[in-house]
Amino acid sequence: MTSSSWSRPWALRCSACDTPAPLEKASLCTACGQPLFARYDAVPRGTALTDRWDMWRYAPFLPLASGEAPVSLGEGLTPLIESESLAAAVGVRRLWIKDEAQNPTASFKARGMSAAVTRARAEGYPGLVVPTAGNAGAALAAYGAAAGMPVKVFAPRTTPRPILDTIEAMGADLVRIDGHIGDAGKLALAHASETGFFAISTLREPYRVEGMKTMGFEMAEQLGWRVPDVVVYPTGGGEGTVGIWKALQELAAGGWLDGADSPRIQPQYVVAQAAGCAPIARAFAAGQEKAEPWVDPVTHAAGLRVPSPLGDRILLRILRETAGVAGTASEDAIREWTFRLASATGIDAAPEGGCALSVLRDAVQAGQIASDAEVVVYNTGSGASYRA
Ligand SMILES: *Cc1c(COP(=O)(O)O)cnc(C)c1O
Repeated sequence: MTSSSWSRPWALRCSACDTPAPLEKASLCTACGQPLFARYDAVPRGTALTDRWDMWRYAPFLPLASGEAPVSLGEGLTPLIESESLAAAVGVRRLWIKDEAQNPTASFKARGMSAAVTRARAEGYPGLVVPTAGNAGAALAAYGAAAGMPVKVFAPRTTPRPILDTIEAMGADLVRIDGHIGDAGKLALAHASETGFFAISTLREPYRVEGMKTMGFEMAEQLGWRVPDVVVYPTGGGEGTVGIWKALQELAAGGWLDGADSPRIQPQYVVAQAAGCAPIARAFAAGQEKAEPWVDPVTHAAGLRVPSPLGDRILLRILRETAGVAGTASEDAIREWTFRLASATGIDAAPEGGCALSVLRDAVQAGQIASDAEVVVYNTGSGASYRA
């Protein structure tokens, strides 16, 4: 199959107010400031997936122009590993771990960067810049190298050392800053406006989330084109959670999902956050439509240290619409469940994955998740990235 036969035209529209936006230099909606989404005609069930053995297998659902080859390092197609002992430990019927550590640079951030760098290269940007809590910087450094484009990364000084080393090993220009990812974001935007580099911050451009969708396509296909009862995602900026939700919408629109009577379209989402930085959990508990910035975010689960996520309104909507749960885990609980995840399964659990399991266990104990539920938990990164 030639790559041109995968391509489908897409348009950009606001995720909130549906205002159309031009494809060139896409950022936020100029009418309301919310993130833009790529929109396609539905991909009907039976449309051939590609024969690639990476996330571009789902290219008919992705923003790839006619005749274009993606910037790819073999991202995606990660295993979905069932664990009976973890299901018993948290008190649900069946539990699978989707192990995103098995991606280039060891996190799901590879998927988003593969999609966004593909678009940035096609649009002719002179370079790429990202603010990061760690893994996004490592992933962008790798995909920039693959695309032959210069990369600038702004990361907190407190980012785990192995991640900072990876960023530099891939030849990116790393600036260590005092502060958190929000502070890094301001510097990255200033750098983008000085240099014309493509600013790849979470949900500030529409393409990273397109790559994240592939976590949802794979999960559904691995379960036999079904949706589980519950998806647990350790949520920082929200791109992973939003990507899975958007993928399942698109599968449902094309009739891909099976079910005994009527297919389940969306699972119940569990947004897992660290107790030291939980803007979404706090806003959801208060019944708010948007989140207030978290002052002084502190957690060793670096990917969750995002005090003011741009996807707050979309995440809160997903939680409301799916009878979801937003919970938190203490630093000790994150450590305990990271160890339990790794030692029970052999998966190299990241602290974010441990946080997800801890929040799931608490939600089951509180009766918010049914004990006969089938649950998919995302282990979003690798433990090795955090072992200095
Ligand atoms: C970025 C990251 C997260 C948070 O993902 P969002 O898409 O920003 O919500 C979770 N875990 C790890 C390991 C990460 O790198």
